[in-house]
Amino acid sequence: MKVLICDATAQAALDMIAEAGIEVVDKPDVTAEELMEMLPEFDAMVVRSRTTVRESLIDVATNLKAIVRGGVGLDNIDVDYARSKGIQVLNTPTASTAAVAELTIGYIFALARQIPQMTASMKAGEWAKKSFLGSELGGKTLGLVGAGRIAQATGSRAKALGMSVVAYDPYVESADGIEMMSLEEVLSQADYLSLHVPHTDETHNIIGAEEIAKAKDGVSIINCGRGGTLDEDALYAAIESGKVAGAALDVYAAEPSKGHKLYTLSQVIGSPHIGAGTSEAKARVGTEVAKNVINALKE
Ligand code: NAD
Repeated sequence: MKVLICDATAQAALDMIAEAGIEVVDKPDVTAEELMEMLPEFDAMVVRSRTTVRESLIDVATNLKAIVRGGVGLDNIDVDYARSKGIQVLNTPTASTAAVAELTIGYIFALARQIPQMTASMKAGEWAKKSFLGSELGGKTLGLVGAGRIAQATGSRAKALGMSVVAYDPYVESADGIEMMSLEEVLSQADYLSLHVPHTDETHNIIGAEEIAKAKDGVSIINCGRGGTLDEDALYAAIESGKVAGAALDVYAAEPSKGHKLYTLSQVIGSPHIGAGTSEAKARVGTEVAKNVINALKE
């Protein structure tokens, strides 16, 4: 049995797989062309988000029994096609929940107190004590779009800060400590609006110009979910008009997203899709990847 590691994966995970008697070939920089040539001899492949697994690749992978994705989303894999060929497609859905929830909470604090802007001002040699009036989180409302794992983990942390938590998710009836309601109601109540939905036809630009118009004046928006769910042009216009006070973004409609025009606005803070980027989450992803590979090939 042989597994091809196509994207950087924790050494501990590779060791675990090897200890189970499966040969590991570590090619974290493998190109699409190399994959077409190499994959036929492998029984499993491990990917993160760099490698895409489309129908043409699946067609040549005649020995493949499992595609294991370290992470949550499966948008880089033609999942239905792979499964129709009898290939298992597995991910690590819970490994990065805490990391993303903590980043989201970090952004809520950063937006409330303009921490990145204050830091930039200090680094510029200023002492702009009067320019940075913050606000407190206690008594404010966090509105969640999506009430899955990460939204719920974010909600429970927000509750601990004295925030009220409301959410819209047509597929979740109830969640601990979270009041479920329509999207309109969430928009009308939220001081902080945080997106935690996958990018699907249904969620494409789920927060756009119309939704922002229905939100509270001075709302702050956070997207640590998936690009394409927040209309970036509408967000830009709403920040310029003063309707939206600030935004924190980890994900973008097109990635990688260098020199995004939203970053010309001082009210926008963010990161390069590193929601799951903690050492603890990486270790957890590694362990779950290894277990998935071993279970799939030893079945
Ligand atoms: P999850 O599947 O537990 O939750 C997603 C929720 O979205 C589900 O409850 C689902 O019912 C809901 N949903 C689907 N369609 C909806 C709609 N039209 N309206 C409202 N809700 C809808 O997933 P999760 O683990 O909580 O992850 C949430 C998102 O975060 C995913 O898109 C995932 O890809 C993303 N993510 C980002 C990072 C990062 O690095 N920033 C890391 C991990 C996950």
